[in-house]
Amino acid sequence: MRTKRALPARPVPARPVPARPVLFAALAVTTAGSLLLTPHTAAAEPEPPVTREGPVTREGPAVDESAARAPESAAERALSGPAGPTADTGRTGHGYPREQVLTADPENPADKSIKLGLTPYHAIAPELNALQRLGDRVSVEVTGRSAGGHRLYLVTVTAPETARQTRAQERMRELIENAPARAAADPAIKSGYKAPVFFNNNIHGNEWEGTDASLKLIEQLATADDARTRDLLAHSRLYFNITANPDGRIAGTRANANGFDLNRDFVTASQSETRAMRQIEIDKQPAVMLDLHGYVNGTLIEPTTPPHGENYEYDLFLKNTYANALGMEAAVNGLGYTPAKDGVEPAQIPFRDQAEGWDDWPPIFTPQYAAFHGTVAAHTVEIPMEVNNSAYDKLPEAELRRRSAINVDVAGAALRATLDFVQKKRASLVADQIEVFRRGAAGAAQVPVSKESVPGVPGIGPEDVYTTNFPRAYVIPAGGASQRSATAAARLVDHLVANDVRVTRATRDLRLGGRSYPKGSYVVDMRQPKRGLANVLLADGRDISDKVSVMYDISGWSLGRLWGATVRPVTSGSLSGAPLRAVREAAGVGHVAQVAQSGALRLRLDDPREVAALNALLRQGVSVRRAVDGSAIVPASARSRAVAAARTYDVVFDATKLTGTAELRRVRVAAAVTPGELFALREMNFEVTPVSTAVLNAGFDWSAADVLLVSAGLDRGDLNAGARAALDAFLGSGHGLVGRGATGAALNAAAGLLAVKPVEGNGDANGVVRVVNSGPVTAGAPEHGFVYAPVWFTDLGPGIRVEQSYATGDPLVSGHWRALEDGSGGRADAAGRASVVSGPGAVLFGTEPLFRDHPKGEFAQVARALFTVGHASGGSGEESE
Ligand SMILES: [Zn+2]
Repeated sequence: MRTKRALPARPVPARPVPARPVLFAALAVTTAGSLLLTPHTAAAEPEPPVTREGPVTREGPAVDESAARAPESAAERALSGPAGPTADTGRTGHGYPREQVLTADPENPADKSIKLGLTPYHAIAPELNALQRLGDRVSVEVTGRSAGGHRLYLVTVTAPETARQTRAQERMRELIENAPARAAADPAIKSGYKAPVFFNNNIHGNEWEGTDASLKLIEQLATADDARTRDLLAHSRLYFNITANPDGRIAGTRANANGFDLNRDFVTASQSETRAMRQIEIDKQPAVMLDLHGYVNGTLIEPTTPPHGENYEYDLFLKNTYANALGMEAAVNGLGYTPAKDGVEPAQIPFRDQAEGWDDWPPIFTPQYAAFHGTVAAHTVEIPMEVNNSAYDKLPEAELRRRSAINVDVAGAALRATLDFVQKKRASLVADQIEVFRRGAAGAAQVPVSKESVPGVPGIGPEDVYTTNFPRAYVIPAGGASQRSATAAARLVDHLVANDVRVTRATRDLRLGGRSYPKGSYVVDMRQPKRGLANVLLADGRDISDKVSVMYDISGWSLGRLWGATVRPVTSGSLSGAPLRAVREAAGVGHVAQVAQSGALRLRLDDPREVAALNALLRQGVSVRRAVDGSAIVPASARSRAVAAARTYDVVFDATKLTGTAELRRVRVAAAVTPGELFALREMNFEVTPVSTAVLNAGFDWSAADVLLVSAGLDRGDLNAGARAALDAFLGSGHGLVGRGATGAALNAAAGLLAVKPVEGNGDANGVVRVVNSGPVTAGAPEHGFVYAPVWFTDLGPGIRVEQSYATGDPLVSGHWRALEDGSGGRADAAGRASVVSGPGAVLFGTEPLFRDHPKGEFAQVARALFTVGHASGGSGEESE
């Protein structure tokens, strides 16, 4: 029997809840150092495609310096939909191996791996070249580039294949996904399909050793001539993402050069590294995967504690993930390290050993996301010996190297145990993957976990049972009255397609579930192989506050509620005969109305793409005015520029009789914010200069800013006298403050701006909430918002406007929000309270409208706030530059 222990708070340090301290650290590093946070305006080309002209190719420059410095082009890519695969991973008509000679990276003596005795990033390319020369089993592909411009290497190890054999494998893979019932009965798949296995390394840059263990294993596999290895490679393909986060590996940071935790980015896929991993999942369709992390002693091996995501085929996942966990545990413990001699504790399996604290609820983590692409054994593995952060700085080099060597051993044991598992269980692993897709395509019910349905897994209880009712379909209506935003709808459709979710489009007007939808509406038929992924992205999610005391990370994320598009679930009815055609991308919505030369065009400012288009026009010197409804009015004389912006940003300029009132001017933003917020601001084409307490104390030129945005890392009380005086002078001279969360509210209070009392809710609470919009900043905003550590405002003084409130009743739609032990901080206290307030010179948010670049539908609220308080009212009307 499983003896579940209730763990003390935060048992697992490696997935620290709110990632904010980490984000601040990353912000500090990048501000001091380099890459993205320096203001740049230089545009850069998208990642160069990697061409593969023959079996052996040479590729372009090792480091793409421009990649990291391209907020605008990055923004355009992010805003204009999915950045698809950056390399053709498997459909090129070649067999294996596919040798590729990599050009050298410049040697970097500052690479943080070196102190640990590990492989620095610059040594990887030559090592991969050497590994390819060892024989005919090793292939290297470049799957993309990191935020900092470094190449991402995918190594495939398998027995050689002719082009024809490779095509046959690809056909089988397609059949498994797209015709699973046929695949289940196909004897060729049973005997001949090579099980795909994916080893993902170093996604957290300062959790290094998965990379080194993988390189070692590849070397062994490249030359081993024993029957077991030959059999393994004849019946499987092993894919190694050598380092998922080169920027972090080099710099010794958890995050990439943009400051993003890539292992929180799978729902949003804002980062190129995440999109590369996503494409591996889609193209390779692994049955088994490991995501190697550190550091938890003893080694922590998934499956996890509850709550378990409700959209998985969790019976199949648990069965295989638990079985492989046992094998990994035995292998790790079998290395012979001891607590007394080595400081190494025995491995632990949270599902079996713990009651709560390490859940698999949100699909923002690699193995959780992988499950939706048919991976039936997927593990985060936390290797044991701490070598990062303060340990890295404080411990002697010899001790660090002792620890890292143990970590390489432990990671290697996990990798080899997984290979043994695959060798033994290949046929049933593939069969279970097929069953995942079959259930989805057939609309079959999930199978609740129990000791009967998942024999061999001890201690399954009601606390482990999570299932959902999939709707029959989702409709994303075309433009017009039924759709809030055609631009947002197109972005959402492109995102779904990039995730390999099937989307169709109505070729005629359509009636579904008792409602009518116009021609051009998008329909997601939920009878599809990846229904779990479709649902986990589009559904509301669930209030899980009563399930566990605290969650590891976010608990709500609905794209259907937060991305700005109208999305309607259709619970019943038939799609047969519906006039639907599959789409590979959303139809473009960019459009400029025909108006008389004296007329005007209106650009709504409800969507980040509309804001990006506005900022592009302002930068070009177009004269734009603000209308009473908060939209932007562009004179018809600027039509050609509007046409270009409509095309670039996929936005609509419609005809209007509004003339506009105040002039809309460029705002240059000084921002003390998280990396996710910074990225979102740059997506909207704002010119942003990152600031912090330290930056202001060093002397900051306020003439380069029009508005201050504060959510993190700036405390007026820690400013020296000169910096404080300069800040006060800036705020006192008609430049405004936009504040977010407790830090923003504290600066507001310290600067004596808005007369409000901020109330902090439970700092762990997060999720999707219902809101009521009531002011110009939030006009046109969705009726839902995202919160993390929610704040609300009471005791509003004269002249304070409520822009938005938490809904009355229970505002939480999905997520985890409990009151604190003393009963305060809960959602009952927040209900009906102001979540966004404005007044002279300031706007304050208690929500998280830019969180990790995720809630796209909310971004425009921040943009409107910045435009509202960016310039002294009644100013000269001059362009700022
Ligand atoms: Zn990690």
